[in-house]
Amino acid sequence: MSPKRLALRGDLVDFTADPGLDQTTGAGVRYRPDHWLLVENGVIVGAQLHEPGAGWARADHRGRLILPGFIDTHVHSAQVDVIGSWGTQLLDWLDTHTFPAETRMADPAHAAAISALFTDALLAHGTTAACVYPSVHKVSVDALFAAAQQRGMRLIGGKVLMDRNAPEAVRDDVDGAERDCHVLIETWHGQGRLAYAVTPRFAPTSTDAQLAMAGRLLASTPGLYMQTHVAENEAEVRWAAELFPQARSYLDVYARFGLLNERAVLGHGIWLDDTDRALLRDTGAQIAFCPSSNLFLGSGLFGWSAARDAGVNVSLASDVGGGTSLSMRRTMLDAYKVQALAGQKVSAFALLHAATRGAAHALRLGHEIGSFDVGATADLCIWDWARSPLAQRRQQVARDLHEKLFAWITLGDEQDLAETWVAGERRFERPAAPH
Ligand SMILES: [Zn+2]
Repeated sequence: MSPKRLALRGDLVDFTADPGLDQTTGAGVRYRPDHWLLVENGVIVGAQLHEPGAGWARADHRGRLILPGFIDTHVHSAQVDVIGSWGTQLLDWLDTHTFPAETRMADPAHAAAISALFTDALLAHGTTAACVYPSVHKVSVDALFAAAQQRGMRLIGGKVLMDRNAPEAVRDDVDGAERDCHVLIETWHGQGRLAYAVTPRFAPTSTDAQLAMAGRLLASTPGLYMQTHVAENEAEVRWAAELFPQARSYLDVYARFGLLNERAVLGHGIWLDDTDRALLRDTGAQIAFCPSSNLFLGSGLFGWSAARDAGVNVSLASDVGGGTSLSMRRTMLDAYKVQALAGQKVSAFALLHAATRGAAHALRLGHEIGSFDVGATADLCIWDWARSPLAQRRQQVARDLHEKLFAWITLGDEQDLAETWVAGERRFERPAAPH
């Protein structure tokens, strides 16, 4: 069979190396204005200035920005019903909003509908890969993976583990959870672009016995991920210290149960110390920085530069429903604002890198996602540089690529997204404006 060849024209921006946190000079940035990105059977095979010859299907997006698909490293599919809920901090947020929403995921029809809506919404924000928490119910995991598989997405997820300090409808027990996880790993892990993550919600909702089981699971199969929350909120940190008096710190609870490795993704990590950061660096675990959620729930301000100086991998995440948008652009802007409060100016390059190549490398998936390297899977999003008169004016007067990209992050929204492609297939197209 002859290969399926596709050429996409636009302004290509991706990264070949880490651009640093505050550099605006463009080291590590690959900018190829008005180029054709060449895709063969869903894989990137090159990029060139001249139009390719016969035998190439064309998608002409000249004047538009083409980026690698965004990677959201911490997001809750089960919480789409509670996004934008008023008036709580983490622990009462869980009781008031989250647990009731997650309870409904026990119903297979509801879980399927929410998973379809959620994965479509990711694509409609330019996100093609994500680390996702469904709920404690096995059916919610099956529904999530099925929806992602249908759309060809690179998705990491797993059954939420919670065997204490939660209402009965969202609680499991060690034996039942272990059985469910083995079946889920067998069914989904390594199937196409799906990978399983052992997913204790956070230390306070798991017993020692369950965390030990999670450690056994993680060791049982190569390539499994681990995702959880750590040190998001000060009251939560105090609670974890009461529940695990033997641990040196909240993060140390996870280390003690063998849960930190190079495929571990820990949400938040606001209230960490130098010893914690050294532990993250030494284990290769990453922090998913969730600025929108941290601001919305009043959790605190993550120290990106301290983490970076300590050698910790940091990616960006929406944390919907604590976060207020699935948009990685809004997440980038919130990340910029959080760092600005600490006197640190983060470049547009650093923000975009964290949401693409940086996350891919931290997930050990740099060969597959996060860039337009030859051999990478063709996951990408195609954006208007500007649509409103104000944003268009701002782009016209921007003097260089950094200024253009920073204004793009700041002024736009998801309405600017023209198309999203996953593995060389168009999976989202902006609906035509009503007449
Ligand atoms: Zn979360």
